[in-house]
Amino acid sequence: MDPKKEDRCVFCEIVAGRAKAHRIYEDDLSLAILDINPFSKGHCLVIPKRHVPWWHDLTEEEVESLFRVARAVSQKIMKAFSPDFVAIYARGRRIPHTHIFVVPTYGGDVLDRFFNALEGFQEATIELAKLKSEEEFQEAADLLRSA
Ligand SMILES: [Zn+2]
Repeated sequence: MDPKKEDRCVFCEIVAGRAKAHRIYEDDLSLAILDINPFSKGHCLVIPKRHVPWWHDLTEEEVESLFRVARAVSQKIMKAFSPDFVAIYARGRRIPHTHIFVVPTYGGDVLDRFFNALEGFQEATIELAKLKSEEEFQEAADLLRSA
């Protein structure tokens, strides 16, 4: 790991206590903070304390911690804000330090409309339609099972 990269990572700065954040909950391996660009009130991010760009490169212990903390924060969100449910997703393209979005979600809100639009796109797009043939499903399943 390039130490210079970690020095410039805002999440590493937050974990180290050198950058400001609204810390909500943590354990030894993960930290939950409020997202500075919330989709809804109480929107949190859960990050591993170690600098790991992609979530699938985390250790078993880090994955367990990350999801345990995400669940604990989701339960806090349900108690504090009573949303319809709490959505989680991981992307992490903008800041290369794994983060799970933990978002209180209400029918018709921004995130709900975004995912509804994405699902519409997923179902209707011609370029994706070719992935729906039995041959494509079989090939994908074979490749995944043997990977
Ligand atoms: Zn980092």
